[in-house]
Amino acid sequence: MTEMASLPVFLVVDEDKSTVDTLVSDLERRFAADYRVVAATSPPTALDLLGALRDAGEQVALIISRESMQAMSGSELLGRSRSTHPDAKRILLVEYGDPQMLDRIAQGMAAGDVEHYLTKPWRSRERLLYPVVGQALAAWARHQSPGFQMIRIVGDRWHPSSYRLRDAMDRNSIPYGFYDRESPEGAELLGQLEEVPDHPVVFAADGRVLTDYTAADIAEAVGARIHPPHQAYDLVVVGAGPAGLSAAMYGASEGLSTLVLERWAMGGQAGTSARIRNFLGFPAGISGDELAERAFQQARMFGAEFVWVNGAAALAGHGEELVVTLADGERVTAGAVVLATGVTYRRLDTPGVADLVGAGVFYGSAVSEAPGLKDQDIFIVGAGNAAGQAAIYFAKSARSVALLVRGDTLAESMSDYLIKEIESIAKVHVRLHTDVAAARGDHRLTELVLHERRIGQEEVVPAAALFVMIGATPHTDWLPDSISRDRHGFILTGRNLPGGDSPGNRPPPLPLETSLPGVFAAGDVRSGSVKRVASAVGEGSVTIPQVHLHLQRQAIRSAG
Ligand SMILES: Cc1cc2nc3c(=O)[nH]c(=O)nc-3n(C[C@H](O)[C@H](O)[C@H](O)COP(=O)(O)OP(=O)(O)OC[C@H]3O[C@@H](n4cnc5c(N)ncnc54)[C@H](O)[C@@H]3O)c2cc1C
Repeated sequence: MTEMASLPVFLVVDEDKSTVDTLVSDLERRFAADYRVVAATSPPTALDLLGALRDAGEQVALIISRESMQAMSGSELLGRSRSTHPDAKRILLVEYGDPQMLDRIAQGMAAGDVEHYLTKPWRSRERLLYPVVGQALAAWARHQSPGFQMIRIVGDRWHPSSYRLRDAMDRNSIPYGFYDRESPEGAELLGQLEEVPDHPVVFAADGRVLTDYTAADIAEAVGARIHPPHQAYDLVVVGAGPAGLSAAMYGASEGLSTLVLERWAMGGQAGTSARIRNFLGFPAGISGDELAERAFQQARMFGAEFVWVNGAAALAGHGEELVVTLADGERVTAGAVVLATGVTYRRLDTPGVADLVGAGVFYGSAVSEAPGLKDQDIFIVGAGNAAGQAAIYFAKSARSVALLVRGDTLAESMSDYLIKEIESIAKVHVRLHTDVAAARGDHRLTELVLHERRIGQEEVVPAAALFVMIGATPHTDWLPDSISRDRHGFILTGRNLPGGDSPGNRPPPLPLETSLPGVFAAGDVRSGSVKRVASAVGEGSVTIPQVHLHLQRQAIRSAG
């Protein structure tokens, strides 16, 4: 294979030859040194070409396809390309002024087939074409094997602990290589060992081989900080999801000495989202890990210090001082603490579901998907108020909405006013005694197998989206009883605290302050919070003026 042929490929598809020629020439002008730009003037030719590139083992970095084509729409072509080149980034080319344009983009994004879009004509290459292509390429490059590998992991690709390690490396932006134990590289590395364990083995860049290890050992092997550099801080933030990163960035930027403790990976739940589409300022969305990495860099630039895989295990108030004990027993003191420990969504352990997350299957209500699901059949699993509200919301534009409920009534878990409203909407059907037995679809969700629990009957139904809303568990079990929580374990703050307005002789709690003075809560872990990235970021930032006020009051008390 020539050097030219081994460069990753950009594929451009349009039935209009002049557009193809312009696009190829504009892309080559900027990217020819690193990528090979190839073109197809019909969707069937494009699919054949993609098959041939896959068979030849060539990488496709980017596919740009026009939406309006006669043989097949661009979104369909991009969707089908996922089976041959799942890692390629997909850009839909739409005509400026096309009244259907926004619908087409939204539908493609909701299905997970389209990641970016371009409008034609792109008169200014610098402003309209190159930034979109550059953003797509940056996202693609983040998930390719890096040249330098800080660690090499050898394991069984499908072993859950292999997945967990890869997830942690990806989300913490650590350059690593993963080798299946059956691959030549994997077998060669394992050949150095006298005894090969069942779980993955980690080969560090400095020559150390870790066969029996903790998360902290691996963090140390990749040079991550696992011990706090100081013993006392103005502010300790627990959790490096969107709320914690925001509190850290604003705290550090406003002069507070700030420590962030994260027990697993930066970005929290948001870091697991392939595309966050409803965060202000990112019209084509941004991947959760990229957003987290940007926020982390920003917080670090302002001086926030981070400790990884050594999370908070205990918290206590001693007079004016707060003491946080880390998982390894170390202690740090803080003038104020922000709890941003988030939640874990209960997962639907059903065949097919895990593979289709983001491609028709969503955790939480993801209302931003509604425009892309216009006139489609939507299913919601859950019987709580959030599921009811989502059903009402989606019914405005969907063809049908089915609420799938395991039990025999909604009355135990949903407010009466919501039940009445749902009953009044003809498009919403409540299916009691019903489970999802399987989710199916080649590259996106197309059908569900529903199981009627009383009679044991299964039914296959067409489905464009499945929203799983079966609850979330807050990470609060490590907190002391002095931090009041609601009956589901979420942290109560401000006026929601019992006696919130007049708690004895202390000043009323600040809006995001918990029942332990100086301890604040932000993001999903807070009772009553809106479970979104933007809200978590907002709450994280809002804690900081309250932290300042608390520290000022503390200083006055100490002086007096
Ligand atoms: C798959 C998926 C897709 C989503 N997509 C969207 C979307 O498109 N748009 C949107 O607005 N929202 C989306 N959400 C919701 C959004 O991600 C959350 O609302 C948001 O991440 C909440 O941020 P947070 O910082 O409060 O908590 P989290 O993101 O949960 O972060 C909490 C962090 O705290 C850490 N932690 C927990 N306990 C401890 C401890 N004791 N010590 C140290 N660290 C600890 C955790 O490891 C985690 O990193 C999505 C959620 C999921 C799961």
